[in-house]
Amino acid sequence: MYLLPIIHLELCTGCECCVLCCPTQALGMRDGKAFLMYPERCDYEARCEEVCPVGAIELPYRIVLGTPGEDSQGEKTSALG
Ligand code: SF4
Ligand code: SF4
Repeated sequence: MYLLPIIHLELCTGCECCVLCCPTQALGMRDGKAFLMYPERCDYEARCEEVCPVGAIELPYRIVLGTPGEDSQGEKTSALG
């Protein structure tokens, strides 16, 4: 499953904060609104969601069910790191 940030254009004020803070330059501006210019660059680390002052960017999260003691890749994990 390939998840991408959702930009609610009706909320976007065009401040460009998300574009400037995106570490992979995945975002751009079009007609005064932010858009995902290079979706393949997005590593889904949510900085744009955090900086948007009007909550126009949303990253839906996927819940992965796993076995206690293993991560989603099946690797052993430890609470002590
Ligand atoms: S989630 Fe991160 S990499 Fe993806 S568009 Fe937002 S700031 Fe850029
Ligand atoms: S930070 Fe929010 S309001 Fe500003 S350009 Fe990006 S989506 Fe639009």
